[in-house]
Amino acid sequence: MSTPNASSGLSFASSEPSSPWRVYLEQIERVLPHLGALAEAAETLRRPKRALIVDVPIESDDGRMVHFEGYRVQHNLSRGPGKGGIRYHPGVGLDEVMALAAWMTIKTAAVNLPFGGAKGGVRVDPKTLSQKELERLTRRYTSEINMIIGPDQDIPAPDVNTNEQTMAWMMDTYSMNVGHTATGVVTGKPVALGGSVGRNRATGQGVFFIARETGRRLRIPIEGAGIAIQGFGNVGRPAAELFAANGARVIAVQDAHGTVYSERGLDIPALARAADAPGGVAASGLGERIDTGAFWELPTDYLVPAAMENQINQQRAQRIRTRVLIEGANGPTTPGADDVLAERGITVVPDVIANAGGVTVSYFEWVQDFSSFFWSEDEVMRRLEQILVGAFGRVWDIAQHKRLSLRTAAYIVACERVLDAHRIRGLYP
Ligand code: NAD
Repeated sequence: MSTPNASSGLSFASSEPSSPWRVYLEQIERVLPHLGALAEAAETLRRPKRALIVDVPIESDDGRMVHFEGYRVQHNLSRGPGKGGIRYHPGVGLDEVMALAAWMTIKTAAVNLPFGGAKGGVRVDPKTLSQKELERLTRRYTSEINMIIGPDQDIPAPDVNTNEQTMAWMMDTYSMNVGHTATGVVTGKPVALGGSVGRNRATGQGVFFIARETGRRLRIPIEGAGIAIQGFGNVGRPAAELFAANGARVIAVQDAHGTVYSERGLDIPALARAADAPGGVAASGLGERIDTGAFWELPTDYLVPAAMENQINQQRAQRIRTRVLIEGANGPTTPGADDVLAERGITVVPDVIANAGGVTVSYFEWVQDFSSFFWSEDEVMRRLEQILVGAFGRVWDIAQHKRLSLRTAAYIVACERVLDAHRIRGLYP
């Protein structure tokens, strides 16, 4: 196990222009002129409601005590309990978790789920931990944030480098602490523990539905389209599988290890089978290996960033050669890049709609856990499609009508809902 990096990330007002929190604040500034009188209450959107920083000490397999820093931020709870994933990554810090929590506030409101926005994470490189160490880390982190999570309070889910096993450990730890089995405290659990069928592929499925709807309006059908995808995990992999199964050519896939490319389209089922081995997609032997930078300049119909935030800045936006950018990841595009892409006529479908499939099926999972009545996969997918297609259509119409970007239109829908709930509730005490 490696020693965790020491920077604290304790900055509410970082001057680093690529800080995700700064990016979020800039997105809020851009929507304010369109909110009318509700804009007067916008300060509530500029502040997280609650931010918890925890020390997470664990014993390593070789008997040493190692400390990690963990976070859980509840950005806004006006419309319901907090909802948002848990990230394990060496880059996790307060600034990033605050932004990810805020984007959850916008996302749950944009698709009209009865949740607020939250997010959590631990600054750790999980690849350096054994499975036993990961379990100890997850259980101690869960105990440390136990007092602010719960089925009615704040419901975590998987994010980068966490999965259904992580959620099973979290559910078990929380349940042991409260003295009864509480399946509804997390979503993205294994189906055997009250998870929902379809949750694993839900975010990728949503990316696919949204790309298809965009394509219908722009007359760029998925069938025959050339697509490049960054990230081949919970989001990127099922999205790639669906694109390929629906007749698209997925010409490039990039993960943290490298990039593979094939003009005729990669064999995605084979890539999915090979990509978990050490070395990721680049070691699959499929397609041709290309440079990380060259990935962004490939001519495509759809480009799907589905890895990390801040991937597309102004400079990269100048060189991208796609027609539609579908944000599978959270926060992949900076506001400066948004401007460049708009000027170049590239349609950007924002994260808060494009990747909302995951939180939507998490909502279904939470509802199923409460009622202890479980749905079929067909029903999950039918309801998912209905919610996403409806939310996207509304955002599209506002963008067309007011001549705004899809991001600003989505923020109008979301901020109106959050600020209206805030207004109706009134100020305590
Ligand atoms: P994951 O850990 O399952 O997969 C991440 C993928 O990105 C991996 O293939 C990894 O190799 C790749 N990657 C990481 N860093 C990279 C880099 N610098 N360059 C290229 N590739 C890189 O994570 P995930 O759950 O798929 O999440 C991906 C993004 O989608 C994140 O922004 C996350 O917040 C967002 N998201 C996830 C969900 C969900 O349900 N899991 C829902 C909504 C949004």
